[in-house]
Amino acid sequence: MGNTFDVIVVGARCAGSPLSMLLARKGYRVLAVDRAAFPSDTMSTHLIHPPGVARLKTWGLLEQVTATGCPPVGTYAFDVGPFTIEGAPGTPDSPVAYGPRRTVLDKLLVDAAAVAGAEVRERFVVDEIVREGDRVTGIRGHDRAGGSVTESAPLVVGADGLHSLVAKAVGAAQYNERPPLQASYYAYWSGLPMNGRFEAYDRGTRAFAAWPTNDDLTLIVGGWPAAEFDENKRNVERHFMAALDLAPAFAERVGAARREERFVGTAVPNYFRRPFGPGWALVGDAGYNKDFITAQGISDAFRDADLCATAIDETLSKGRPVEDAMGAYQAARDQHAFPMYEFTCQFARMAPPPPETQQLLAAVHGNQDAMDGFAGVFAGTTSPGEFFAPEHVGRIFAAARGSGV
Ligand SMILES: Cc1cc2nc3c(=O)[nH]c(=O)nc-3n(C[C@H](O)[C@H](O)[C@H](O)COP(=O)(O)OP(=O)(O)OC[C@H]3O[C@@H](n4cnc5c(N)ncnc54)[C@H](O)[C@@H]3O)c2cc1C
Repeated sequence: MGNTFDVIVVGARCAGSPLSMLLARKGYRVLAVDRAAFPSDTMSTHLIHPPGVARLKTWGLLEQVTATGCPPVGTYAFDVGPFTIEGAPGTPDSPVAYGPRRTVLDKLLVDAAAVAGAEVRERFVVDEIVREGDRVTGIRGHDRAGGSVTESAPLVVGADGLHSLVAKAVGAAQYNERPPLQASYYAYWSGLPMNGRFEAYDRGTRAFAAWPTNDDLTLIVGGWPAAEFDENKRNVERHFMAALDLAPAFAERVGAARREERFVGTAVPNYFRRPFGPGWALVGDAGYNKDFITAQGISDAFRDADLCATAIDETLSKGRPVEDAMGAYQAARDQHAFPMYEFTCQFARMAPPPPETQQLLAAVHGNQDAMDGFAGVFAGTTSPGEFFAPEHVGRIFAAARGSGV
């Protein structure tokens, strides 16, 4: 008997819905399932840097985001204590970032998948992966009615996040792993205008940042090294507010604002997983996770969805061998991700920067091109490898000497 679906996607948020949408737009029969119903929230501070925004634009979804009233963020400001590095991280094609609530973003993405023709089943829990021999052939799960449902397809994609059942079931090999490095909490404030700015504050073993989101709210996220996670979670508010006090002018603005929601937070492990095997693939956090301190996860999930959709299309319709096409997906993902992964892990350690980094930051300060480039490293528009390359660093120091800094 033939399969009802070409591809089953488990998980329908930032990775699963765009993948389902892209495949459905190419004419594939796609089933996307999620245990959640939409709109619903999930733990994330949801800043989408310009590269992620560029994909929303390409997919024709950006206008739906802006129509929700979510304000653009054109300036990133990094207050490192003695001075602030302030730059514009965007590109001419994608000049700004956005921080849409996940209730807003994920609903819009899942609807786009359905509009493209994917069958979306919400409140559907996948309990196990079905196999024939080594090959994954489908899923078994249950819906709200509770009865067991089995669906088959030549390919099952795990877009099921950090605790991916698909990755566990197939034993996807992990590499380049790092333990949780920092723990952060966040909440939303009203009465804290940001005027199109992302503001970040680095105070040694404390770091925090703020940006605007929907409904005139501002998200503030703040954290400490993972070693303090257990101790500090007994009184998150006290530790969080004490951290903000390390930047008195910002703390004063927060003091005049009002917190509207409770604190939530966590610490996450860092890893890459082999993202394919017989009858299965992984996208988004299921395949690659990194500390959220540089806010890359959503943009990465979008990129993986694009790369994976292309690879699946090449194998299903264009006869390219699976190893080749999916191997190219893995190679492209890793090549894009490795430099940012290293930068993120280093930053998430929250160790004081070595003297040469402090000197570099001082030289960057006041040099607008260099400040834009530094902001771009965070945003993913400047490669960390290129920015921190000795020749580039040399030029920044030379410019600083020339200007007498
Ligand atoms: C505290 C925190 C802050 C973050 N801040 C940012 C940020 O500012 N910017 C940014 O870009 N990234 C951020 N991230 C990362 C970002 O949230 C993730 O990278 C992104 O959500 C990954 O999307 P995903 O679709 O891969 O997984 P998820 O968003 O985790 O979605 C997985 C989906 O799979 C479903 N699922 C799981 N198992 C099953 C099952 N068995 N059956 C059915 N459904 C299932 C879940 O219900 C869920 O809806 C943050 C992460 C954390 C933890």
